[in-house]
Amino acid sequence: MSPQYESAHAEIQRLLEGNRQWAEARRRQDPETFPVLARRHEPPFMVVGCCDARMPMDQLTGTDTGELFLHRNVANQVRLDDPAIAASVEFAVGTLGVRHLIVTGHTACGGVKAALSDEPPPAVAHWVEPIHALAREVSAELEEAGSFSDRADLLAARNVIRQIENLLEMEPVRAAIRDPDRVLLLHGWLFHLETGLIEALELPMDRWRREERLP
Ligand SMILES: [Zn+2]
Repeated sequence: MSPQYESAHAEIQRLLEGNRQWAEARRRQDPETFPVLARRHEPPFMVVGCCDARMPMDQLTGTDTGELFLHRNVANQVRLDDPAIAASVEFAVGTLGVRHLIVTGHTACGGVKAALSDEPPPAVAHWVEPIHALAREVSAELEEAGSFSDRADLLAARNVIRQIENLLEMEPVRAAIRDPDRVLLLHGWLFHLETGLIEALELPMDRWRREERLP
């Protein structure tokens, strides 16, 4: 085996060993943890986040196993032509009955930067096309933002709002929001990699009501 493969092998062993220690520590703390988790899946939160490795959602929110229903893709998109997000939303909102829908972007997002670049790799270019189109829509605002990274961070924030608007187009979300016996709150976040802090973005609720996206 070549040295590169040997060290990659050691790398994956580290993960499996880490898992063994984690499970053992959890069992020591509470022997019922895993039997209970295996029986029950009642997360209060659904999170649509970016794939970026620097956003460990449970660690950065201090939540426990079983609390976050996570859907991740490049640049945290809710594309209405994506069967994966449709299934996640149907299951989390329709079946599990989450009470919070969170879309979270982050600063220095590679997917958002790709949408602002001239020639991203082809599959990424295809995937981030809606963000590229959004950038054209808000180009005046972006121009004022200044540097490339400031523009990317502003676009990441605008993208979060746009993705919540897409969620509001989805039938399980529309039904839950209009159900008087249910609570479903919407949240848009921008995670700042530089500080580790979440910025809760202001949502244009009044405009959404006027546009009849919200009841
Ligand atoms: Zn990202």
